[in-house]
Amino acid sequence: MNYTEWPFIEAQRIKERLDRLGKTNVVAQTGYGPSGLPHIGTFGEVARTSFVLKALEIIAPEIDRHLIAFSDDMDGLREAPKNIPNRDMVIEHLGKPLTSVPDPFGEEKSFAHNMNRKLQEFLNSFGFEYEFASSTEKYSAGAFNDGLKRVMNNNQKIIELFTKTISEDKRAAWSPFFPVCENCGKIYSTRVTNHDTENYKVSYVCDSSLEGKYTACGHTGEVSIFDGTLKLGWKVDWALRWFSLGVDYEMHGEDLMESGRLSKKLVRVIGGKPPELFKYELFLDEDGKKISKKIGNGVSIDQWLSYGPVDSLLYFMYIKPQQTKKMGLPLLPKIIDQYLELVAKYDGETVDSPVTFITRLSKGAHAVAMGDDKAVNYSMIYNLVLALNETDPAIVREYLLKYQPKIAENMEYFNQLIAEVLKYYKEVYLARKVDEEPSRDYDEAILAFCEELEKLKNAGDKPEADVIQNMSFRAAKERDINMKQWFKTLYLVFLKQSSGPKIGSFVVLLGLDKSIERLKTHLGKAPAK
Ligand SMILES: [Zn+2]
Repeated sequence: MNYTEWPFIEAQRIKERLDRLGKTNVVAQTGYGPSGLPHIGTFGEVARTSFVLKALEIIAPEIDRHLIAFSDDMDGLREAPKNIPNRDMVIEHLGKPLTSVPDPFGEEKSFAHNMNRKLQEFLNSFGFEYEFASSTEKYSAGAFNDGLKRVMNNNQKIIELFTKTISEDKRAAWSPFFPVCENCGKIYSTRVTNHDTENYKVSYVCDSSLEGKYTACGHTGEVSIFDGTLKLGWKVDWALRWFSLGVDYEMHGEDLMESGRLSKKLVRVIGGKPPELFKYELFLDEDGKKISKKIGNGVSIDQWLSYGPVDSLLYFMYIKPQQTKKMGLPLLPKIIDQYLELVAKYDGETVDSPVTFITRLSKGAHAVAMGDDKAVNYSMIYNLVLALNETDPAIVREYLLKYQPKIAENMEYFNQLIAEVLKYYKEVYLARKVDEEPSRDYDEAILAFCEELEKLKNAGDKPEADVIQNMSFRAAKERDINMKQWFKTLYLVFLKQSSGPKIGSFVVLLGLDKSIERLKTHLGKAPAK
């Protein structure tokens, strides 16, 4: 087996690990912070991990596969998200574990319970296979107790590992444990004052307000480290999870490189084996800026799925996860067509292809191969809509069927694609449109091209894309016109934009009548000589 697609390489790495450890099942984990709604990053991580597990299923079907979608819902709430109801009420609970903050929507037991439900609905809508796990539940049920015991037994080593970079005086105050204050319920306001390593207890005081962000109640207490009375600080917590859940594989963003390195050391200290990690790069927007939830740049899942098919989104997550990638609404047609082109070339059998993973993962209708050069893709439908200035899907469909009757075999997919293009046209193109007038310098050539098309029409021959492409080329060449300028002008005449598809196939799609009419309208606008 010489598969080269990246999920296979990852799957191979997992297989070698399992062989080494004598394991017959694999546990992969993805992380989710329920202080906000699931976003494109959450989606990407689950999708990519699922690709790897699919690859593993192909190379080693005997291995039992588990994907844990782990929710960090015992983390404290640091900030009240904007755009939620009852925000003032939520602010009163800042610093409490997310599962102790009341649900501002009034639907679930807590804020985190609501977000966890949304995460699951979100993942289910894509058909991902996973097991949901809640940090709060794991801690409370004692699932982490053995690991916690080991953390306490190795407390000194962990403190040393952790505090190498911080000053001596601060080391004394550092602890991996974060108790929940028994009086006020906050987790971010407590500070451990003593570790009782014999009885597995910690003493704490609730006096840390973190620059006034949280109010601390001043309570002092002593708690057992077991059964959900406390949680561990982030990097130790990550190691604890790997140890307790037996995690073999996890992906993380470039921003968690350092955490990953330290957590690997930490899990060894408590007697575990670090999982195989896979670092992916972050997304940039169309201008090359980092995507940030605060700025709201890039594309949200909702936007993507209202303008493009789900398999194009999966494809975007699939391609080169270890390179930074740009995403933005204007790039959407190009990304979708890259995928359609791949599908068009796909032989339907090869396993070592992105298409294998995407069609096996996504629900709903898929793109299929057209089998010849008259492929119908997103840009093409988009150009047709631009040329026709037409938002009636039935009329667009009629044009497409005339051009490529084969789409009738997959009408469900194409109807969806047409609807998405029309939505993109109305909401993105029309909103950003800048009018540019075609140059008048090439009217003579346009007239010549137009006359050739009329001859073709009168001859009654079936218009061929190549023939028409040559006509357009000749009209410019005979007049020594710069080709770039010439085609730009034709695109402006046909599409009111400066670039577009091959003129030959486009005229076939639009039809000779409509094309001639368009050229004549332009010529009619020419100022009198
Ligand atoms: Zn307190």
